[in-house]
Amino acid sequence: RKKIGIITSGGDAPGMNSAVRAVVRAAIHKGCDAFAIYEGYEGLVQGGHMMKQMKWEDVRGWLSEGGTLIGTARCAAFRERWGRLKAAKNMIVNGIDALIVCGGDGSLTGADLFRAEWPDLLKELVDTNELTPSQIEGYEHLTIVGLVGSIDNDMSSTDATIGAYSSLSRICQSVDFIDATAYSHSRAFVVEVMGRHCGWLALMAGIATGADYVFIPEQPPSATGWGDEICSVVSAHRKKGKRKTVVIVCEGAIDSDLNPISAVDVKDLLVDRLGLDTRITTLGHVQRGGSAVAFDRLISTLQGYEAVEAVLDSTPETPSPMIGIHENKLVRTPLVDAVALTKQVATAIKARDFNRAMSLRDAEFAE
Ligand code: ADP
Repeated sequence: RKKIGIITSGGDAPGMNSAVRAVVRAAIHKGCDAFAIYEGYEGLVQGGHMMKQMKWEDVRGWLSEGGTLIGTARCAAFRERWGRLKAAKNMIVNGIDALIVCGGDGSLTGADLFRAEWPDLLKELVDTNELTPSQIEGYEHLTIVGLVGSIDNDMSSTDATIGAYSSLSRICQSVDFIDATAYSHSRAFVVEVMGRHCGWLALMAGIATGADYVFIPEQPPSATGWGDEICSVVSAHRKKGKRKTVVIVCEGAIDSDLNPISAVDVKDLLVDRLGLDTRITTLGHVQRGGSAVAFDRLISTLQGYEAVEAVLDSTPETPSPMIGIHENKLVRTPLVDAVALTKQVATAIKARDFNRAMSLRDAEFAE
């Protein structure tokens, strides 16, 4: 009888609760025991009351709840080997032999490391008499399955991360509100949205709301020319009779010299050069909150069920999978590959090698 632990880790994302609900219920349906591990990896490191067996009714009503009800945390200890050693011990002591982690690329990198280290961790636990050889019997193979929960949509090997469309909807709704007041006063608004390294939210929100201009880290404008360019675009729109201006700035926006471009920089420019009455709206944590949109409820439910099936399919030979969605179908990718590819894309973007970043992204689902 498999005992499956479910963790939500890293930044919270709408849909995490429905993922937990799906995992708990699919596990029970398939004759397994399900354990919620509270506060991300902190719950694994601390063990005890932070791991709780879940019944079917414990997740009732969780489909429509925002955030994550089992908590999440940044756990420094899990970045250290001693922390992962404690986590391994706590899992074995509680009989948990499979882990489903719902989190962003950081959390899944940690999960992949834990999986790779597992045999060494067990050996050390026995060598230091923390556990007896008979206690580790049956735990030689750790199954880890990744679910991608992140509002940024910044993970390779999936078209959409759980939470990204909820966040995008919230941003669009907020920009609609801003549009109304901008139009009334004929003002300009610079809207800052989340995404430290990934401009998906900013770009999609720009398209969905018809913004005048969008700044994303993947396509930095010329360090010396971006001011002229945005001014000419905005004034052309104004000349055509547009009464409002909306510029979306991704948190991680940079220019071609890698200098950050902030909402304040853009506002100052619009005021000084075009004389526009300009305000800044930083959407902040409003983008994370609230209940998940239907799409996120759907993918988290289907992927949660798929994750439990992947646990049951797993053998010592099969690599730990990450569950993604590609062209409307659920896909399993080796977690190690997805993590490596995500890193390569981030490195290419940091090195301003955008052609490489694009070709890596194009290649992620290549046969
Ligand atoms: P996200 O999962 O949203 O990207 P973080 O990057 O903060 O968020 O990662 C969440 C947690 O995952 C961290 O607090 C840490 O416990 C764990 N983690 C992240 N990166 C690593 C790593 N390289 N090694 C081990 N654990 C990690």
